[in-house]
Amino acid sequence: MNLPGQPPKQGARSLDPHLRRYAARTAGMTASEIRALFAVASRPEVVSLAGGMPHLAALPLDSLSAEVGELIATDGLVALQYGSAHGVPELREQICEVMALEGIKAHPDDVVVTVGSQMGLDMVTRIFCDPGDVVLAEGPSYVGALGSFSAYQAQVVHVAMDADGLVPENLREAIASVERAGRRIKFLYTIPNFHNPAGVTLAVARRAEVLEICRAHGILVVEDNPYGLLGFDGVTYPALRSTDPDNVVYLGSFSKTFAAGLRVGWVLAPHAVREKLVLAAESATLCPPTLNQMIVSRYLATHDWKGQIKTYREAYRERRDAAISALEQHMPVGSTWNKPSGGFYVWITVPEGIDTKAMLPRAVTQRVAYASGTGFYADGLGSRQLRISYCYPTPERIREGVRRLANVLKDEMEL
Ligand code: PMP
Repeated sequence: MNLPGQPPKQGARSLDPHLRRYAARTAGMTASEIRALFAVASRPEVVSLAGGMPHLAALPLDSLSAEVGELIATDGLVALQYGSAHGVPELREQICEVMALEGIKAHPDDVVVTVGSQMGLDMVTRIFCDPGDVVLAEGPSYVGALGSFSAYQAQVVHVAMDADGLVPENLREAIASVERAGRRIKFLYTIPNFHNPAGVTLAVARRAEVLEICRAHGILVVEDNPYGLLGFDGVTYPALRSTDPDNVVYLGSFSKTFAAGLRVGWVLAPHAVREKLVLAAESATLCPPTLNQMIVSRYLATHDWKGQIKTYREAYRERRDAAISALEQHMPVGSTWNKPSGGFYVWITVPEGIDTKAMLPRAVTQRVAYASGTGFYADGLGSRQLRISYCYPTPERIREGVRRLANVLKDEMEL
């Protein structure tokens, strides 16, 4: 492990002339396996079940383009100008209306607009974590969050889930063992709904217990909820934030419900924390892009955004069904997976003896890409798991991709 101030350990034969200059925290910055294979994996003949790109073809591009043109024509001098680090006031009010769908009562002052919820994750980690602090996170967990934690040299302790999400008893045990080791836990990072990558949802009956455990141990909860409105049965679960506003920092995003490329997300934080977040945001970006915030604001005011979410939900449900039926039809004996009730992902355990990371280059040669499980753990687990995303390819491509994946697995079993 690198200590603060030490240069990162890198291959002795690296040709990088700046090697000795990098901060110690860069040692934890590593490219995902799929990024390393990106050039091959993004060829059209490869079915990529790897990334989590939303299905933007479902958007009303013509009317959006007219709105954006009109926005610049009428409000261009504001939209193209710097704004406040806190975010556009009208958008912050609208965000409160969006969160009300999950039972959250919020004041617009406590909302900080971010460049996607990824920036929210970075800022929350920046203001809370010193090197060596512990962050609890579900095992597996979102790869981008693990990247932020490692960039600030926080240590992740995973809490295992079951089909109903985070297991309260496992949470208690993880806290006890970290406390026994005399380490400081800064927060629990959790994705309660339609988990990335595990696809599971935290049972409503467990939510109060998870909050209570964290409160009893003085642990803040960071609730990351980009998929909460994408439940296939039309069910919207109550946010953790809705029952414990003083101890939950909530991360939201328009990436999955509207347009990821606009990079507009938000953090809803307890009042005191919000001040620190605004300062952190200011030093990172000065302000989130004004034009993009105004596009989102106008979209929420003039479009049937709830209808759009319904359109997305239906498209994703159809794709989920295509993925599940293809898995049932093709996967070799010894593989298991869950059936997600929302979101983008299926988490698959492959037959014993197969290493999904080692298999990935062979899969790409067979024209299918996935995300191997190890990227979703900070502690080396996950080599028998992989994640497939059904959000982007058409149902037909998904079926073909799963068929190819199953064939690669069958070939591996014969090796
Ligand atoms: N959290 C989770 C769980 C995610 O899956 C993602 C994107 N895949 C993000 C945060 C970041 O989303 P964005 O920055 O686009 O809002």
